[in-house]
Amino acid sequence: MGNPLKGRCGKCDHVFIVACLPMPLTTAAALMKRAACPTCGNLKPIYIATEETAS
Ligand SMILES: [Zn+2]
Repeated sequence: MGNPLKGRCGKCDHVFIVACLPMPLTTAAALMKRAACPTCGNLKPIYIATEETAS
């Protein structure tokens, strides 16, 4: 099991998994760009959520 990379919706603060590490940073960046909030459908901004903000 990889380390989940979480994104945080800039609109509703919902935290969701965008990608699983390890993966190439370029791939992770591409996934972040495509990420959409599953709660409100907001496309951006989606921020990287650190473990501190995610838990
Ligand atoms: Zn949202």
